[in-house]
Parts: sequence; structure tokens; C-alpha cells
Amino acid sequence: MQELTHYINGEHVKGTSGRFADVYNPATGEVQAKCPLASTAEMEQAVEIAAAAQPAWAATNPQRRARVMMKFVALLNRDMDKLAEALSREHGKTLPDAAGDVQRGLEVVEYCIGAPQMLKGEFTDSAGPGIDMYSMRQALGVTAGITPFNFPAMIPMWMFAPAIACGNAFILKPSERDPSVPLMLAELMEEAGLPKGILQVVNGDKEAVDAILYNDTIQSVGFVGSTPIAEYIYGTGCAQGKRVQCFGGAKNHMIIMPDADMDQAADALVGAGYGAAGERCMAISVAVPVGDETADRLIEKLVPRVEALKVGPYTAGNDVDYGPVVTGAAKQNILNLVQSGIDQGAKLVVDGRDFSLQGYEDGFFVGAHLFDNVTPDMDIYKKEIFGPVLSTVRAQTYEEAIGLAMDHEYGNGTAIYTRDGDTARDFANRINIGMVGVNVPIPVPLAYHTFGGWKKSAFGDLNQHGPDAFKFYTRTKTITARWPSGIKEGGEFSIPVME
Ligand code: NAD
Repeated sequence: MQELTHYINGEHVKGTSGRFADVYNPATGEVQAKCPLASTAEMEQAVEIAAAAQPAWAATNPQRRARVMMKFVALLNRDMDKLAEALSREHGKTLPDAAGDVQRGLEVVEYCIGAPQMLKGEFTDSAGPGIDMYSMRQALGVTAGITPFNFPAMIPMWMFAPAIACGNAFILKPSERDPSVPLMLAELMEEAGLPKGILQVVNGDKEAVDAILYNDTIQSVGFVGSTPIAEYIYGTGCAQGKRVQCFGGAKNHMIIMPDADMDQAADALVGAGYGAAGERCMAISVAVPVGDETADRLIEKLVPRVEALKVGPYTAGNDVDYGPVVTGAAKQNILNLVQSGIDQGAKLVVDGRDFSLQGYEDGFFVGAHLFDNVTPDMDIYKKEIFGPVLSTVRAQTYEEAIGLAMDHEYGNGTAIYTRDGDTARDFANRINIGMVGVNVPIPVPLAYHTFGGWKKSAFGDLNQHGPDAFKFYTRTKTITARWPSGIKEGGEFSIPVME
């Protein structure tokens, strides 16, 4: 059995705590590796190394730091297939989807090549008599990030690329479910020219997270994962005086208006609801058709599409729409929620419960499920399922539909399908959700905009990537300067006389 490592001071280092987590191959159900779970002492050692390396990195001019990002982009492209394969093997998502995971991280690295421009300060000439005022953005020092299993390449890069481009050292605590790609990314950053100790990967669980939160040297913590842990990390990290941003769970609604192109809406729902087995924080998990006639037409279009979805292992290449979910426990949780939906009176119009794949009976595959007549009091509506389960809630009016999305505790993403510009505009203006799609099912902003939800989907003031990342990973210092007046006349050639 493969024993994975940490990546500390430029070396693969074995864990010394004696504690490990199982890393599965979700397609077969087998444990394929052991992931070391760091002790507080192991985390402290990494922090000391980071603190020693960081000042020289911060003093390296920003253009040279950006060149490391440029080289890193080239290496990511060189190793794309290898990274995607390693990612699929531990996560279960299809190979094209895994390559997309790497690509959406790579795009933020590309954006960070522009760090010298983003880090420029402001200057006011003659703010007072002989006084100039200017500001600079300085690195924080040692920063840390804690990431989820569902995007093991993209989300680490969203954090460490801007942090490092700003001159910080970064400690990554990835998900213990799929830690191999984060380790590979750290190696590639060093191959790109990053000095040792600036990017380290310390694997672990709550003990490693608490070691980050209670370490006085660590200045900032970024987190992406489920909402209860986001709330814990935000509360604890802020109480320790750190800068913290946490991104949590989601329940994303798509409103389908009667005038929508129903084929387009159904295609969008199938991709956004079942892609990556529904294990995306921007997945659509609730369809809200407006009016019973719209709902009937939508369900009629959806059923054959959902029934035709191909589920299989990533080794089947492009021939698969989605793969297994990440663990047996995740599968059981999804099936329990499906059962609760049936028990609480929802109509299961596509039933994936008996799905089984020949040769992969022990894999964590879950068939596609489609519910109709879901109501807001049901658990399948209130909770994040994070699986291939789409719930349809029938609304009678547009106001009822927008009200559902607004009243839900999560506010990550949402979408509206309509041909009417006025409705779309009203929706975009009024909705209390961070990312909105108009005839776009998964409105994930590109690298140069920012990513973040509202309500219980995000905690903290600044979003991920885009200009916010450069604010989050730097501190502003403002200098007010006055110099005593000097002699500007030049040399005197005649003898000075008293006047
Ligand atoms: P998770 O909360 O279980 O784990 C996330 C991280 O927290 C991991 O590194 C894990 O080791 C750590 N962790 C787990 N339990 C902990 C504890 N008790 N104390 C301290 N740390 C702990 O989330 P997950 O299952 O890996 O990821 C799925 C969740 O992430 C979903 O809820 C999904 O919506 C969310 N997510 C949100 C976004 C976003 O941008 N809003 C993006 C991706 C995923």
C-alpha cells in the first residue's frame, strides 16, 4: 500500500504522528493509499520553515515572482494528463472533468502573472506643503489554506497562487480524501523556480487545522468546504486575530420561466445537476419551474435525459458522464436523503437506487435521481445532498420562485432561464445570492472576476481570486513623508556678503 507524504522544505517527508487516513479508489472501493495526518508538532515545524524562508521571497521583486507563475503554467500544461489521471484516481470524476479542475486553477495562476500590476500602490504628490503621501501593499508573512475534496487542483491553486505572487509563504492543508495532486502541484512550483519552504503541503485532519488556527505566526487562513466547518474556522480564526475567509456549502436553484427554451433548460439542468456526480458547490440541485404547465414540459424533457446518463469509472474515458462519489459514507448519506425524500412525500420520477455496474460492484457509484413535487419543508430541499439528485419544486408564480431561492439559507449560485430581459434583469438585481447565471447554469466567474457566495455559503469580506485575492493576501501601509528643504541653488562662486 502506498504511503503518501507531506511536502516540507522542498522534500517529501513521511508522517511521524502514526495516524493515517484511507485514500480510496472510488471506482473500485479499494483503499489505494494511506494519507498521513499531521500532529501539531509537524505543523509547527512547517510554519517555522515558512517563516524563515518568507522574508527573502517577499524581497524578491514582483516580476521575478511572476516569472515563477509563468513557468508553473507551462509545467501544468506539460503534465496535464498526469495530473488529471492522479486526480480522477482519487476523486472519481471523469478525465475531461479532472482536466477542467486543473485548467480552472491554471487560469488563476495566469491571472497572478499580472501581480506586479495588482501590487502597485497609490501616490499623492503635494498632499500638503512639501508633503507626499503614498501607500504600499505588503505581504502578510506566513499564510495557510484548508481545501475540500471536490476540487483538489483548482481550489488549492486559487489560494496559493495569489498568496505566493504577493510574497507570502503558504501552507496548504488539502483534503485527506485526495491529497496526491496537491503534493504534485507543490513539486511543480519548485520546478518552476519557487524557493524551498514557500509552498508546503501538510496533510491532516482537525488536529492539523487546529494547529493552523492556534499558531501565532500564521497571519491568514483561507477555507473552502462544508458550512459547519467554515463557521468553526471563521469563528476560531477571527478570535485568534487572523484574517480569515471561508466558503461553505450550497443549494443552488435554477428558475425556469414559461418562456424559456425548454430543451436548452433541460440540457443545462442535466449537466449542472449531475456533472461530477453532483459534487460541485455550484451544481444546480433545485429546479424551480414557474407554473404547472412549465413543470410538466420540463419533467417530460428531463426524464429521458436523466435516464440516459452514463455512469462509470474514469478509465472509460470520454464515454462516461459522471463517475462514483468520493467515499462509501458519502454514497450512504445520499441514499439516506433519497429515502427521506420518498418518506416525506416527494415523487421520485427517476429512481437510481438500484444502480450497479458490472465489475465495479464495490465502487461508490450512485445512479441518477430526479424528484418532482418537492416542498421546502423536506430534508432533500433543506440539506445539501452533494450527489446526483435533482429536486423539482413547482412554483406558481415568478415571485414565489424568487422567494424560494431568497429564503434558502445558502446563497452560493443561482440561475434563471428565460427569454425575457426584464425578468432576468429583475432577478439579477433582487436576488440575495453571490453568483447569478442568466441562461447560464453554472455561473463560475473567470479568474479576473471574483468568486464567492452570500448568506451561509461564505464568511468574510473578500471573495476568492480576481482583485479581492490581492487585497486578502496583502496589508496596506500608508506613508506620509516630508523632507526638510535643501539647497537647490547649486554652487556659490562669489564671496557671500551680508544683506
Ligand atoms: P469538509 O468541510 O468535510 O472538509 C473541508 C476541509 O476541512 C478538509 O480539508 C477537511 O480535512 C477539513 N475538516 C473536516 N472536518 C474538520 C473539522 N471537524 N475540523 C477542522 N477541519 C475539518 O468538506 P468536503 O466534504 O471536503 O467538501 C465538500 C463541501 O465543500 C461541500 O459542502 C461543498 O459545497 C463545499 N464547497 C464549497 C465551495 C465554495 O466555494 N463555496 C467550493 C467547493 C466545495
